[in-house]
Amino acid sequence: MHFFKYHRNELFAEDVSVKALAEKYSTPLYIYSYNTLLRHFRAYDQAFNNYQHIICFAIKANPNISILRLFAKQGGGADVVSGGELYKALKAGISPRKIVFAGVGKTDEEIRFALITNILMFNAESEDELREINRVAYLMKKKAPVALRINPDIDPETHPYIATGLKKHKFGIPIEDALEHYRIASRLENIKVVGIHKHIGSQITKIAPFVDALKSILILMDKLRSEGLRIKYLDIGGGLGISYKDEEPPIPKDLAKNLLPLLRGRDLTLILEPGRSIAGNAGILVTKVLYVKKGKEKEFVIVDAGMNDLIRPSLYGAYHHILPVVKKQRNTAIYDIVGPICESGDYFAKDRELKEVKQGEFLAVMGVGAYGFSMSSNYNCRPKAAEVMVKNNEHFLIKDRETYKDLIRGEKVPAFLK
Ligand SMILES: *Cc1c(COP(=O)(O)O)cnc(C)c1O
Repeated sequence: MHFFKYHRNELFAEDVSVKALAEKYSTPLYIYSYNTLLRHFRAYDQAFNNYQHIICFAIKANPNISILRLFAKQGGGADVVSGGELYKALKAGISPRKIVFAGVGKTDEEIRFALITNILMFNAESEDELREINRVAYLMKKKAPVALRINPDIDPETHPYIATGLKKHKFGIPIEDALEHYRIASRLENIKVVGIHKHIGSQITKIAPFVDALKSILILMDKLRSEGLRIKYLDIGGGLGISYKDEEPPIPKDLAKNLLPLLRGRDLTLILEPGRSIAGNAGILVTKVLYVKKGKEKEFVIVDAGMNDLIRPSLYGAYHHILPVVKKQRNTAIYDIVGPICESGDYFAKDRELKEVKQGEFLAVMGVGAYGFSMSSNYNCRPKAAEVMVKNNEHFLIKDRETYKDLIRGEKVPAFLK
């Protein structure tokens, strides 16, 4: 469910005309719906209402500070995977006691930063990392709260690039080695074992992988308890999918209905790390048609957004609905919708049926609130897009469009080239 709808053939973000925003702020333009973000956050919060929980939004899905602030005001936490994300979470006012830190390659500096700020816990992914966290904590005379990220070897049945919980993946500690790693961790002086973590992948559209993964984790947890290791935080990661095309993924309520019975009688704090399912369909990318070009075999719509603005189609072959911002009574045509970047992989849709479009008209790429702007780059020296948040009939610029000057910030020419 989201709040991008047509009124009299014109696309609206909540109660604001998308065309008016595109004209005011120019394109490419990211537009987010406040009420959609809020609704999705609350859907999680309410679904898990009966169980002690923290909803740690996965910042990598959308790190705009206004969006993080929105969740902070709802009592949300953050799942961070870098020092930069930790910095932004803190800047947005997210309580450090609600921040968890995952990632296979945490540096000393990042570990130190997290220890200084007293985050809730590290989700450690290897023995080397455990020893490194222990060493840094020792130097700081601290005890680092740690959960181990366990790889339960469950197939989430999603795109191979966004599956993370199989044996062949770099993430987490193989479940057969988990016990041994917990023993090692519990012997390290400057580590306090507090939790268990898993995250098996993204854009998961079935309940079964979540249930299966949780069951294996709970078996492990019982073994740990029999060794006297008490786990306080159970972090089940994110990964719930959204409907990009015709998927019918479960909603947070379905997840709660299937998972919470398994936790009955266990005194835990549950941590969830949703990213895509909260932000995904709360954002659109508005782009202008520059040219319509008839090739020998195909007809191309060349738009002013490129793979630097939204890389999901190029990277994963991802499908996104593309809608006209103003609907017209016209014949349909079959187009490849492509960007201006000098790469053949720079496309948003192939062989897509659309009502004929004309130069100067706007199109909206739907479902880009997660892994959209956050994966954007300056490739081809293209300044990054502006971002706007809409709330009812108001709108707010939440990130300026980059300028050419931004493109050379920090670059220096050595004396011998002057
Ligand atoms: C990416 C990621 C998430 C969020 O995944 P979504 O599919 O966007 O919900 C959560 N936890 C970890 C550790 C991640 O790497």
